[in-house]
Amino acid sequence: MQRIVVIGGGGAGTGAATNAKQLDRSLEVTLITEFEDIAYSPCGIPYVFGRDIKKFDGLFLQPLEFYREEMGINLKTETVVESIDIDKGAVYTTEGEEYPFDKLILCTGWEYEVPNLENVDLDGVIFIKNIRRAMEIDGRLDNVKKAVVWQAKPLGVELIEALPKRDIETHLVDSGSWLMSEFSDADMMEPLQDHLVDDLGVKMHFGTDLTGFSGENGKLTSVQTSDGSIDADMAFLVDPMKPSTKLAKSIGIKTGSTGAIVVNNHMETNVENVYAAGACVKYTCKPYSRNLCIYSRTHGWD
Ligand SMILES: Cc1cc2nc3c(=O)[nH]c(=O)nc-3n(C[C@H](O)[C@H](O)[C@H](O)COP(=O)(O)OP(=O)(O)OC[C@H]3O[C@@H](n4cnc5c(N)ncnc54)[C@H](O)[C@@H]3O)c2cc1C
Repeated sequence: MQRIVVIGGGGAGTGAATNAKQLDRSLEVTLITEFEDIAYSPCGIPYVFGRDIKKFDGLFLQPLEFYREEMGINLKTETVVESIDIDKGAVYTTEGEEYPFDKLILCTGWEYEVPNLENVDLDGVIFIKNIRRAMEIDGRLDNVKKAVVWQAKPLGVELIEALPKRDIETHLVDSGSWLMSEFSDADMMEPLQDHLVDDLGVKMHFGTDLTGFSGENGKLTSVQTSDGSIDADMAFLVDPMKPSTKLAKSIGIKTGSTGAIVVNNHMETNVENVYAAGACVKYTCKPYSRNLCIYSRTHGWD
């Protein structure tokens, strides 16, 4: 019986594991994820914050039991893969468990690169990623009076649209001159910007850098910028994001100039029997004949 181990339970890992099982029920498929959940849409999180989507339940595709019982996937949640022994064909978790494989699929996604800013570890400085942590943040939003969102990238724009709907005075800090200035012209963004300012009362701080955070008793009280201080109970940082490739690099998998894993058209890496998919992977965009990774959207072309 072929053994497939998938690392990661985001869209890529869930898709890889379920597709493998759909193609051949006899495969032994193990999906290992650090998080508590799989198969949800992180993209919907800002819309739950703003109550355009009523509940987090609406972001889940299927419950965990579906993948375990109906799909027959050996699902290991809250389990971190620490190392891979490629000669032996096995992955090892931080708890010392061994999962042997014939084929390994890396779907380790992306992570934030925490910026080197003063007091970035204060309670109230938020990086949204895992849905459980987002649920906790959502529970705190009713007590938030003022929030700062750093960077007018797509996630930042979604947040500044959501937070005023929770009666939060919302500030956007961005070094550019208009919303999503890295990939849109000013006139394209003007109607959206007008709506955010005029209808939702968002305060825009363009041409401004984030320089640090201040707090009391470990909690955020203000955000420091190149143009002065902004009082805030919460600050959302939506960048920088980078592909999660630590495990891949540890077994000699090739990465490209964006830092993401290089794969061929069959999602094979340069290491035999190891595949990769999703946000940790660099891919080729046929219309542009260029190599991209998910970060190309925010970090420019490869
Ligand atoms: C709030 C938010 C809003 C978004 N909005 C949009 C949007 O509107 N449009 C859009 O296109 N994209 C959006 N995205 C990005 C989109 O969600 C990602 O592109 C997508 O999640 C990538 O899926 P993935 O499976 O490749 O990786 P990820 O979702 O990053 O999943 C990585 C998985 O790997 C696991 N993992 C990593 N390392 C290990 C390890 N060592 N051991 C065990 N498990 C490990 C993690 O637990 C996780 O399950 C948004 C993301 C967020 C957070």
